Amino acid sequence: MWPRRNCSRANDERTVRLDMVRNQLERRGIMDERVLQAMREVPRHVFAPAKRRHEAYGDHPIPIGEMQTISQPYMVAVMIEHLQLRGGERVLEIGTGSGYQAAVLGRLAAEVYTVECFPSLAADARLVLQQLGYENVQVVQTNGCQGFAQGSPYNGIVVAAAAPFVPAPLQLQLADGGRLVIPVGGPEGQRLVIVTRQGDTFTEEKTVACRFVPLLGADLQ
Ligand code: SAH
Repeated sequence: MWPRRNCSRANDERTVRLDMVRNQLERRGIMDERVLQAMREVPRHVFAPAKRRHEAYGDHPIPIGEMQTISQPYMVAVMIEHLQLRGGERVLEIGTGSGYQAAVLGRLAAEVYTVECFPSLAADARLVLQQLGYENVQVVQTNGCQGFAQGSPYNGIVVAAAAPFVPAPLQLQLADGGRLVIPVGGPEGQRLVIVTRQGDTFTEEKTVACRFVPLLGADLQ
């Protein structure tokens, strides 16, 4: 992706990225080696807006326009680790944003659908993912509160925006044994909730506190 003259810059980005994985992820307990390796490989700075590339590997979210953000690297790792992907899965992401998390998912699963409601963000993410060669990631521009039935059932669903409660349509689009990871709560604070489907039984587990932008339209259901 980098022209030859930028080789040393690409090496610099790689060094910063490896530091990010060691200091922000491994030190805080992310253990899934596949997740760590994927995050060592995906060039996060390419998904950041040009004027924010210098802070792409910082320990915080990054604004991407439309009052949205790329999630903090640690939150991306935590959410994806909870999906327990092994490589053959079909996955749905709600909230494409920059496309960064979708790219990480693309390295860990067979097939990824990612849904974004803002046309401008969906178009930008689609372009970057295409340029980087993520052929197994499909960006769909639509509201994801109802999930994306066309691609279901999913072995994993990850929601990158917070809902006041777990939307029922998302649970129902899980395959047997599938896992849904979603921040639940209001603007003052949320918890990351993991829903596991076994047959027609759905088990909910509340995990860490977190803070995400709201899932638009989720309060209207
Ligand atoms: N995963 C993203 C970060 C997403 S931030 C990344 O790696 O960059 C949350 C995203 O969810 C935003 O882009 C926002 O526009 C989108 N979003 C919020 N509500 C949505 C909805 N109802 N349907 C689809 N996308 C939604």
